Amino acid sequence: MIDVIVVGAGWSGLTAATRLAARGHSVVVVDKSRGPGGRSATRRADNFSFDHGAQYLTARSEAFRRQVRAWAESGLLAPWRPGIVTFGDRPADAGRPPDERWVGVPGMNAVLHQLARGLDCRWQWQTVGAARRGPGWRVEGPDGEALEGRALLITAPPRQAGGLLGPDHALHDRLVAVDMQPCWAVMLGYASPREPGFDAAFVNRGPLAWIAHNGGKPGRGNVDAWVVHAETGWSNDHLEDPAEAVVEAAIAALAELAPALAQSVTHSAAHRWRFAQPRGGGQGSSSLSRDSERLVLAGDWCAGGRIEGAWISGVAAARRLDAML
Ligand SMILES: Cc1cc2nc3c(=O)[nH]c(=O)nc-3n(C[C@H](O)[C@H](O)[C@H](O)COP(=O)(O)OP(=O)(O)OC[C@H]3O[C@@H](n4cnc5c(N)ncnc54)[C@H](O)[C@@H]3O)c2cc1C
Repeated sequence: MIDVIVVGAGWSGLTAATRLAARGHSVVVVDKSRGPGGRSATRRADNFSFDHGAQYLTARSEAFRRQVRAWAESGLLAPWRPGIVTFGDRPADAGRPPDERWVGVPGMNAVLHQLARGLDCRWQWQTVGAARRGPGWRVEGPDGEALEGRALLITAPPRQAGGLLGPDHALHDRLVAVDMQPCWAVMLGYASPREPGFDAAFVNRGPLAWIAHNGGKPGRGNVDAWVVHAETGWSNDHLEDPAEAVVEAAIAALAELAPALAQSVTHSAAHRWRFAQPRGGGQGSSSLSRDSERLVLAGDWCAGGRIEGAWISGVAAARRLDAML
């Protein structure tokens, strides 16, 4: 029997799995996608590459700073110092700018590929349910497949985690009540260099929230790939719109803000992140657990959102599970 089954190969799941494996536990990671990354994904299409989820990471805690430095030394992360402009008024609650912005090289999922390489990962393994089996867990996957483990870590977004455990589970209602906000991401490719006068932009008016020259990040070859994120409220109001309509709306907004980006588009696509980022500051603890069941729930939504929060949550989950086993 496996010691720990980990659902989800994003920052929290792979951080926890790596630490548990280093402590000598047998670990299997399952993810519904074709590879690691989760919301820190990189998509390739028509010779372009796009970080269409997380754009960069920041390190505010000393522990994560140390970890970031180690990844940077091994070439998996590099500093990104874009020329940034702001459209519209900066919100009063915007924090101070970070000392440094870091990006994965060659894509935002570079660290996660490295972590996954050392683990037993099962891709395209969508978990459809998790139930107690004796003192452990039985996790149901695709085509009637199942895994049995002594302990379970779920890092899927909280509403989905609640669904996997079922409505009778003690943590179900708490999980499905966590408010995750959506975000439409639009990926645009161009045949010739675009010069809108900035590398990245925070947008505080209209339907957009963020514009970035993805091709200008370190290790991307300076190709003309740009990523645009829609604002949360707009994404909510247009959640069920077809992707083509979202691309059209983004290009119309760019025509006003940065006309150079509204012309000569040769590649376009949109991706809906239904559970993009948690509203508010987290759950007040870095992970949720039921020690009597050897169950832990983790993810950025526990620790304030963002990659650093997911990492902190993954570290806490590994500690908790190690103590339970
Ligand atoms: C548009 C956008 C922009 C962002 N920008 C930034 C940024 O600039 N900086 C920053 O720090 N953070 C940013 N974030 C947040 C950052 O991406 C997340 O905090 C981080 O990636 C969360 O990692 P995680 O491991 O908690 O969850 P996830 O990355 O969501 O990992 C969960 C994994 O579980 C898998 N999964 C879900 N359900 C199942 C199932 N039933 N069976 C099997 N597998 C399943 C998913 O495929 C996924 O791989 C952004 C997020 C989005 C969406």
